[in-house]
Amino acid sequence: MANDPNAKIAKYSFYQNVEMYFDKAAVFTKLPKGLLEQIKVCNSVYTMHFPVKMGNEYQVIEAYRAQHSHHRMPTKGGIRYSIHVNQDEVMALAALMTYKCAIVDVPFGGAKGGIKISPRNTTAKQLERITRRYTVELIKKNFIGPGIDVPAPDYGTGEREMAWILDTYMSYHPGQIDGYGCVTGKPVSQGGIRGRTEATGRGVMFGLREIVSYKDDMKAIGMTVGLKDKTVVIQGLGNVGYYAAKFMEEEGCKIIAIAELEGAIHDPNGLDVMKLVKHRKETGSILNFPGATNIAISAAALELECDILIPAALENQITEENASRIKAKIIAEAANGPVTPMGEEILLEKGCLIIPDMYLNAGGVTVSYFEWLKNLSHVRFGRMQKRADESTYNNIISTVERLTGRQLGEKERGMITRGADEIDIVNSGLEETMIEAYRQIREVAKKHKDMKSMRTAAFVVAIQKISESYMAMGIFP
Ligand code: GLU
Repeated sequence: MANDPNAKIAKYSFYQNVEMYFDKAAVFTKLPKGLLEQIKVCNSVYTMHFPVKMGNEYQVIEAYRAQHSHHRMPTKGGIRYSIHVNQDEVMALAALMTYKCAIVDVPFGGAKGGIKISPRNTTAKQLERITRRYTVELIKKNFIGPGIDVPAPDYGTGEREMAWILDTYMSYHPGQIDGYGCVTGKPVSQGGIRGRTEATGRGVMFGLREIVSYKDDMKAIGMTVGLKDKTVVIQGLGNVGYYAAKFMEEEGCKIIAIAELEGAIHDPNGLDVMKLVKHRKETGSILNFPGATNIAISAAALELECDILIPAALENQITEENASRIKAKIIAEAANGPVTPMGEEILLEKGCLIIPDMYLNAGGVTVSYFEWLKNLSHVRFGRMQKRADESTYNNIISTVERLTGRQLGEKERGMITRGADEIDIVNSGLEETMIEAYRQIREVAKKHKDMKSMRTAAFVVAIQKISESYMAMGIFP
């Protein structure tokens, strides 16, 4: 999987990289300097140090929560557990959340949290203690709440951590009717929504499927339309990488290589993703997967010949150091910040199409928004409507049958008249969101012939939308 994002002495920090991308796009917007400054700056950062008992001793834990933009409330973004967490990283990720939310019309400002721990070397009991204490720290400073700031999973966290956050928050806010909206990515039994776990990976597939459907765009990079038979390399088999791999495979792609911490594996005929996950569970590693070749240095997999390269792990993976050796035609940023500005320059020079993180991985926060809406409305999507829809469809079919004298089979009728469940509504809302957002980005890109990168177009879309909020508030007339 990912190299340590801080291992190489980078010329610029992650936050500076995001600022550089922003500045490149800002010149296309013609907005006043002060307004652009306000959109770009990180509004608040809360740094915490708190003691947690680990074994027989107390350990001081370093943690953060950054709220990048308050132009819309609540702020929103995941919480990362990693030994590489630092303030600059959290601020950069919070900024990306602001732009991401704007692109997919999720009415939130951006935020991100992080705890500097290695979840692999921490027991579940210790993780629970740390998570609950972190939540209390957020509560003390009013940094969490359904209308204030709503965390979610990110690298190293998942449903379990979100359930602990919810439980801690509710203990301090008994009777708060909308309290369940204080965090998303919860288990379904705890107010979560169906489809949230796989949402980022599914969104990656929806985005890519839309992008490769434009004939002229594909011709320009020497590719044919459609996902079928496209060769794909994926870095990271965590939540995002795994579901992206699974859904791309279902669309007919060939996943020819997967890279993880322990190394990478390659099979030009395509890996069976489900079998690989089983193999990893049994052996503790993706290596030595039957039929595949091991690649000792994980990062080397990024340089394989393929149509689509999906970095789905950490930031700073494609830099000026390795960009010239990348052979993929499309770089699909499922992770946040995997390509640095200098890496991007080289890739664009080579004619690569880079699909920016703030668009492509926005499926997660999109479904988080649906979960938050579900929590505030206190009802499961589809619950009130499913039967009513089914009865309408049945009436239509009966009328058509009567008029045509033809009867449908029971199975066929069942398929046509089925009302939508929560998962159907979530997935269709996600698909619509990814398609519509891409059309907006593509329109901006087509309008500016001198705009070289899709990231710049995505930033322009985001900056425009955020600027409208400020102007509507009368702050920057
Ligand atoms: N951590 C995810 C991201 O980077 C999801 C954020 C959310 O659902 O709030 O987009």
